[in-house]
Amino acid sequence: MKLELAEPLVEEAVRLALAGRSDRRRQAFHRRREACYAVADPAARDAAFRRLYRRYFLALGLERSLLEVLAEYPELETAIPRCRVAAARRAADEGAELYVAPAGGRERRRRRLLALHLRPGTLAEGSRLRGLLRRELLHVADMIDPAFGYRPQLPASTAGPVYDQLVRERYAALWSASVIGRLLRRGRAEEGARAAALERVRRVFGPTSEALAARLLDGPRPTHGELLELARAPAAAAGAPCPLCRFPSAVHEVDGLEPEVVAAVRAAHPRWRRERGLCPRCADLYRARAGVFARPAVAAGG
Ligand SMILES: [Zn+2]
Repeated sequence: MKLELAEPLVEEAVRLALAGRSDRRRQAFHRRREACYAVADPAARDAAFRRLYRRYFLALGLERSLLEVLAEYPELETAIPRCRVAAARRAADEGAELYVAPAGGRERRRRRLLALHLRPGTLAEGSRLRGLLRRELLHVADMIDPAFGYRPQLPASTAGPVYDQLVRERYAALWSASVIGRLLRRGRAEEGARAAALERVRRVFGPTSEALAARLLDGPRPTHGELLELARAPAAAAGAPCPLCRFPSAVHEVDGLEPEVVAAVRAAHPRWRRERGLCPRCADLYRARAGVFARPAVAAGG
């Protein structure tokens, strides 16, 4: 797999990694950097800067920590010829994506591109990088395994966008639990990973979902189709179904609904009646659509 590193990410990661190193090492770097400024030709000067940062990227072991995690997934090495690593600005943007250029059946392997988005600080700090990449790359390994049967788009249902969004979140939570379960068995999961996976499943399936989460964490890897089926199954007895998204909810909002919210729901679901209420998830969605902010449970100040 050919590694393509974005220059700004290399430079920022080197700067951050040097901040944690000895004064002597930092001073040596700054001397070399000053020497680059002395190169008169602009193109040659840029090239000198690039070489300097590349050299420190290698010397500080930053490339090695990337390659070490990639080496834990030999199936990716043979199936994906290129890996592009670029900078992410926020933690939420960090992760891996697999791109496949269209057309040509047999050429599939050659057209794959693994894109990693990392914050420079993650790259500079080995343990955070390992934790993140191991999870992301195991997802990608599932995606390229024909036995998993991955499909990039989940089919839209007739139940509407709220239901589809919840199915996507549930699918992602279940897949992630399976990934974390396998990493735990390999001794490669981060501390607290199991509890985080249980909590993520609980958030989208309700309080009685522990057996389901345990099945994903401890059982064999499910296929894409099995995950989708589980994501669509009604949650085990967690209240009455919401009339809008169909998912069971222990709480239904009725009396506190703002008129703008009622109007927004009616616009999308003409047959809905106010007295039927809706689950808090849907209430928040329609509050956002109507531009109404959710009222805090306890008044602030005082
Ligand atoms: Zn709902």
